[in-house]
Amino acid sequence: MTADLRGAGVRDLGLDEPSRAGDRASLRRTNLGLVLRLLRDAGPRPRTQIATETGLPKATITNLVAELVELGLVREGEAARDGAVGRPSRTLEIDGRAVCGIGLEISADRLSLVALDLRGEVAVEHRVAHDARADGPDRVLDLAAETIRATRRTLQAQGRRPVAITVAAPGVIQRDSGVVSYAPNLGWRDVNMIGGLRERLGRGCPPVHLENDAKLGAIAEYLVASAADIHDLIYVTGETGVGGGIISDGRLLRGSAGFAGEIGHMRLAGEGGECACGRRGCFETLVGLNALLSHAAAPGDPVRDVTVDLEERLAELKRRADEGNPATLAAFDKIIDSLGLGLAALADILNPRAIVLGGYFAYFGEHIIDRVQDELAVRVMAPDAGGCTVMASTLGFSAAARGGALLSLDHVYRDPAGIQPDSL
Ligand SMILES: [Zn+2]
Repeated sequence: MTADLRGAGVRDLGLDEPSRAGDRASLRRTNLGLVLRLLRDAGPRPRTQIATETGLPKATITNLVAELVELGLVREGEAARDGAVGRPSRTLEIDGRAVCGIGLEISADRLSLVALDLRGEVAVEHRVAHDARADGPDRVLDLAAETIRATRRTLQAQGRRPVAITVAAPGVIQRDSGVVSYAPNLGWRDVNMIGGLRERLGRGCPPVHLENDAKLGAIAEYLVASAADIHDLIYVTGETGVGGGIISDGRLLRGSAGFAGEIGHMRLAGEGGECACGRRGCFETLVGLNALLSHAAAPGDPVRDVTVDLEERLAELKRRADEGNPATLAAFDKIIDSLGLGLAALADILNPRAIVLGGYFAYFGEHIIDRVQDELAVRVMAPDAGGCTVMASTLGFSAAARGGALLSLDHVYRDPAGIQPDSL
């Protein structure tokens, strides 16, 4: 299954349109989404232009716009003149003030939340350090629910409300049932993520969805890349776990059962180190955060203390690297060599236009990116690495949470009238 994302924005994430029966009410809901997406993708414009571009009668557009304004999703903007003569008419634009989509990423060492308004602007961003493996699912779900409640209060103070929550989890997830089947880096099996959150948030909580973290990161990165006309990319997370999200010809690749992109568990080192998944020699054991930290620092070194915020630890490593600390630079050499090995294999198979490195790879971008590009040039069969450019994510550690927030907002763009009243 794929989801078509091609275009200037996240066009289609594979969600259902509200229209099924083809009756008048569902047709109206479909048309509400059509108008809202047009304003998102093509920018502010007057009613007459919307009528021309959608092929809908002007009176219908007037009614649809009135409903979108009522829902707080659209507002009137600048006055624009339709032609050389005639009175100017007001343009309509997306209104970012009323609703937000929430993305919540659960990773091994932290919980990250991003709330984006309907225009894609950050309304709330929050990060809490934790140890998911030691805390276990119940405590992590408690913390997640508490963070969502606090966010909801902040949004309420801004006059906004959350319309959906998308949880980003590492490993193998079941989107339909909302269950994290197997997340080796969290040490979790069969955790009912959506059920657990709904139970804690109580009745009236906005719809909650679940998706793999790297796929959401890829969605967030694709929004950036598509503006540069890049429609084939691989997003690689560099964290405790190493995940991948693949966009091929503008589509998010999910695979037959939704597991495409588990690149961290390609077995590249034969009888190499033991992986969290129980096997040996996975790509993740070579280039994951723990590999970097164990190459760079002895046990007991503060950069290996999981109770300290990750970015603080990385800042210390960055300071060492910038000073030319031999152990840190030697650790980077090993990581770069292994990244070359795994990414060249992916580039040979998928021929991406870009490989976007996220997480710690991006954090140490100036030490890593150019050298990984050189590795690809040597290792990939096609000339010039098949035209593939290696780049650092500009979204930092919030890419998956941001992708989750975008996916949450996509529900509004699919079915604006489906927004549920907020009574969290
Ligand atoms: Zn593995």
